[in-house]
This record gives sequence, structure tokens and C-alpha cells, in this order.
Amino acid sequence: MSDTDIQGIAVLGAGTMGHGIAQVAAMAGYATRMFDISTEAVEAGMSRIRGNLDKGVARGKVTAEARDAALANVTTSTDLADAVPGVGMIIEATPENLDLKKKLFASVSALASPTAIIASNTSSLSLTEIAASAVTPEHVIGMHFFNPVHIMKLLEIVRAEQTADIIVEITRGVGARMGREMIVVNDSAGFATSRLGLVIGLEAMRMLEQGVASAQDIDKAMELGYRHPMGPLKLTDLVGLDVRLAIAEYLQREIGEQFRPPQILRRLVRAGHLGKKSGKGFYDWPA
Ligand code: NAD
Repeated sequence: MSDTDIQGIAVLGAGTMGHGIAQVAAMAGYATRMFDISTEAVEAGMSRIRGNLDKGVARGKVTAEARDAALANVTTSTDLADAVPGVGMIIEATPENLDLKKKLFASVSALASPTAIIASNTSSLSLTEIAASAVTPEHVIGMHFFNPVHIMKLLEIVRAEQTADIIVEITRGVGARMGREMIVVNDSAGFATSRLGLVIGLEAMRMLEQGVASAQDIDKAMELGYRHPMGPLKLTDLVGLDVRLAIAEYLQREIGEQFRPPQILRRLVRAGHLGKKSGKGFYDWPA
């Protein structure tokens, strides 16, 4: 089996990451099924894909033909038993919650073709533990995409203890067809990217809390002083404060106290200020 044998891709979750993954899969020519638990969620995901592609056409980055072909490749579903059977690869992009993902992998692997690759877009959670809940643990792998998926080229491939070598190779092939630059890491909490990125993000929040500088100036320090394309607080707004809090709590348990979430992060999440997706986080994001 090789990546050319992957005939279709199902993406589970149509949120911030799921719609972007479905978009790049469809643009790579894969028949793509985008699943979520409600009609509103899949429709919102579809309209975000359409919006991204229209913007790409307006900017001359995507041809109208490529946009139309990509849109024709995406179908939506709210029924797992309809979305999963028959595809060669399933990519899960549901909330960062280990129990949820384990339950989903158990049911998805029972519905999927026995040769299907089942990937998770988790930013931090143990792929080995997720794989253990699947009927075919050797077919489970991490495919960690970055936000916004249609712009960010990195794909962090995470190899669980159980992942077969051939699954890593096929996943690399799929990533290449999606135009990704890849790194391969062994399963470890936070992998390479989230572990390093979060250290800076959490420290920036503590500095804001301690009145060291404004959010704007902390971000500007990293953007102009260290050439980060986006400061750590703005990046947290883009990722979602709830998503970063869940990752920090997990890394605190798995790695240590340096990942203890700052109070400001907990307070903002409790207030529903989740960043760009809710209109407010460390910054205001008017609609
Ligand atoms: P999100 O909240 O934007 O989207 C999650 C989607 O999953 C929602 O549409 C929700 O309705 C759906 N969902 C909930 N339960 C489901 C179920 N049982 N089956 C199918 N769909 C279900 O979250 P997100 O930011 O897209 O994050 C998804 C995953 O991607 C998380 O594991 C996260 O850590 C990871 N991730 C996020 C980012 C980021 O920048 N936001 C970056 C890389 C990886």
C-alpha cells in the first residue's frame, strides 16, 4: 500500500482545524468527507472553506478552476457510519480531550476499513494512549497541522509506540501531496512544537499578569526582536485560549510545573473569551 492507494479522506470535526484540513485534502485531489456532530457545524466549516478559496482566487493564489475542483471534492456528513467506511485515511480534529478522542478512535476504527490509517490532529495528547483504544493501533498516527492550515506548511508527524513503519511512510506521501513540509517526532507530551511554543506563550501571559508590559508590546518584542511572525499572545488568540489551556493542563501533568496555566488564562476562558473565534481574548477581534 502507498499514498496513491488512499482513495478518500474523512475529516472528523469541522472547526478551526477540521475545515482547513478538509480544504487542503480536497485541494490535493482527495475525495474528502467532512464530519461534525451538527449540521450547523459542517455548514460553518463549508462556508469557511468557500471563504478561504474565494479569498485565494481574489489574491491570485488559487485559480477559479482549482477552487471549483476543491469544492467539488468535499462532501459533508453528520453520521459517522456514513463518513468513515470506505476511506483510506481518517483525520480526527475534535476538541483536545483525551477521553473524547479515545472513545472516537474506538468507534471509528470499528467502522473503518481494516487498512485505513487513522490520524489525530491532537496538539499534545499521547498518541500511544489514543492508539491503544483503536481496533488497529498500528494504523494510528499523529498528523499535527498548523493554523491556518491552508497557509501554514508544517506537518508534524507523530509516531505512536504502536505505529507501523509503513504507516509513517504512507502518511509522509499524503503530506507531500498536500504540499506540507514534514518533521517526524516520537510520541511525547506536546511533541516538538507545542512543548516549545507553549513555554513562550505561558511566560508571555505571566508577564502580562505581572504588568511587565502591554500585550501589544510583549508581542512586538518577539515579532521585531526575535523575528517571530506573530507574538505569543496574538498567536494564543488565534489558536483559541481554551485549546491552549487544555494543552497546558495536560503538559503540567505529564512534564511539570513549568506548564502550570496562569490565572489570566483560566479567567479569560471562564469568561468565554476564547480569542479570535469568540471575538475577544488578549485582544478584541471585531467580526
Ligand atoms: P474547534 O473547537 O475549533 O473544533 C472542534 C470541532 O469538533 C467542533 O466543530 C465540534 O463541533 C467538533 N466535535 C466535537 N465533538 C465531536 C465528535 N465527537 N465528533 C466530531 N466532531 C466533534 O477545535 P480546533 O481548534 O479545530 O482543535 C481541534 C484539534 O486540533 C484539537 O485536538 C487541537 O488541539 C488541535 N489543534 C488545534 C490548533 C489550533 O490552532 N486551534 C492547531 C493545531 C492542532
